[in-house]
This record gives sequence, C-alpha cells and structure tokens, in this order.
Amino acid sequence: MAKRVKVIMDFDGTLTDEGRQALELATIAKGMLADILGVPLPRIEASYNRIRQRILRTPQHFHWEVNGLPATYAYEGAYLLNTTIVQEIIRSKPAYLHKIRKLYPTDGLDPMTKCTNHLFHAGTFQVHPYFLDGVRTLLVSLIEHPLIDPVIMTNSETRKITKNLRKLRIGQRGARHKFPHEIDVLGDTRQYHMDPAWEQAFDSGKNGLIQVLPINEHFTVDLRRPVYHAALQRIMDEGYDQVVVVADGFSLAGALPLAMGLRFILKKTDFTPAWTEEYVSTHPNGSVVSGIPELGSLLRSLVE
Ligand SMILES: [Mg+2]
Repeated sequence: MAKRVKVIMDFDGTLTDEGRQALELATIAKGMLADILGVPLPRIEASYNRIRQRILRTPQHFHWEVNGLPATYAYEGAYLLNTTIVQEIIRSKPAYLHKIRKLYPTDGLDPMTKCTNHLFHAGTFQVHPYFLDGVRTLLVSLIEHPLIDPVIMTNSETRKITKNLRKLRIGQRGARHKFPHEIDVLGDTRQYHMDPAWEQAFDSGKNGLIQVLPINEHFTVDLRRPVYHAALQRIMDEGYDQVVVVADGFSLAGALPLAMGLRFILKKTDFTPAWTEEYVSTHPNGSVVSGIPELGSLLRSLVE
C-alpha cells in the first residue's frame, strides 16, 4: 500500500530569506522598544549594536529564554537574534525590567516573553516577505502530491502567514480565498513555550532518559516544550505512515521531533551553526538541505 507522509513545514527562514527580512524587523523593533521604554532611539541603537556583537562573539552564552529555560541559542536564526538582543537590552537596566513587568503581566508566559513576542508579531506583520527561489513550485508540488499532506506550522500568527502566502497565490485551507491552491496553516504554535515543571523525558539511547539533549562541551538543547510536543502528538495520532518536520532552527523546531522519533530536515541558512548541522546530518532520522529544490527532491523521495 502507498505510504502517506505528513510534512510539517516551518515558515520564516525555511521558506523565506529571514536574514534580509530581519534588517527591516530590527528597525521596527528598535523604534517600538524606544517607545515602550521611553528612551531616545539612539540609545537603543547603541545598545542593540553592542549586544549584537557580544552575542556573535560568544554565542554559547546567549539564549532566547522563556519561563526561565533556554528556548534556543540566540544565533540560530536572524529573527531569534533580534528577539534575544531586545531581551538583553531590557535586562540591562532594572528600570527597563520594572516597566516591562508592569506593562506585560505574567499569564503562562513571563513578562519578558510577552513583551518580545509583542514586538516580534507586530514587527514581522509589517515586514515584506522575501520568499526563497522555488518556494511556490515546491508548495504547489506538495499540495498536489497524492501521498503528501503538507502543513505550515510556525510561531508566527496565522494572519501573517496567510497574508504572505497571498503573494504566492496560495490560500489557507478552510479560509476564504480566490486561489486555485490551498494549504493548512497552524500558526501561533509555540515551539518556544518552555515549562520547567513538565516531567516528560525522552529515551536517548546512550544517555538514557533525558530532558536536556547534550550536544558537546558548549551546547545543549532543552526539550521541555509541552506546547510543541502536544501539537506534534496530535499530528502523529492522525495515523500517517511518516511525519517529517522541516525547519531552519534546530533547538527551536528540530531537537524535539528527533527525540520523539520523527524525521527532521534542517534547512540551512547563513545562520545555521556548524554543531546543529553536524548533529542533524549524523542522526539516523535527520537530513540537512541547503536549498528549496534539494528539499523538494528529498521530500518526494520519501514516497517513491
Ligand atoms: Mg524558522
């Protein structure tokens, strides 16, 4: 019998040129942060540049931190780097922190995450999308393939994805649109939602049951991501023969599916750290691709 494959596709950085988009996002984020903190823009810009240099010099020390746990290393993606810089600017002064706590009270997510999310969602909604070459062809071929069921899963809000997909003349499945092709969109899936109290552990083979994946002397990846786990589990329960996750961020989107026994394809960007590429390429369920055509051939080969 033919094999049915679910392809869970990340959006930013996987289908788009996130490095280019992040330049625009940084300008918006700095302006918004200056307003929120009530400080002059040049001061925010100076801090931004200083912290950016520091993160890139010593990336093992900088995370985007959520609920007190590391969600990803800051330098694994252009948007993540922007978010972490904003986080570090706010942390740099008690008065900034105080302001954020008042403006963004905790409700499942800490005030810092709520503030940086607000800047991210409001900022990226305005950013012009630069799709990578071949993305429309890839998505249409997956949508039309009888054995492949693609879904776009992302932290970003569904409305941003739907708005950007319009440029490719692709609609969101189930929504009103005027396009001949449509695709499922699962927006606001919080791969970054960390929970220190979550008790689930994963069988890693040689290291036994783990919650934190050891990589090397400098890097680890925390797997305590109950929201992402539940989203993946729901798809696994739909009974596909294989579930494949494709993303450009390993800590955020790749480590957990591999720990759950799923296939993971790392789509490289200019930000991909060497250790993530090495980990994924040597994992029995992992693959690394450099571009969209290569990704398309690999996905189609899974059902041939
Ligand atoms: Mg991404």
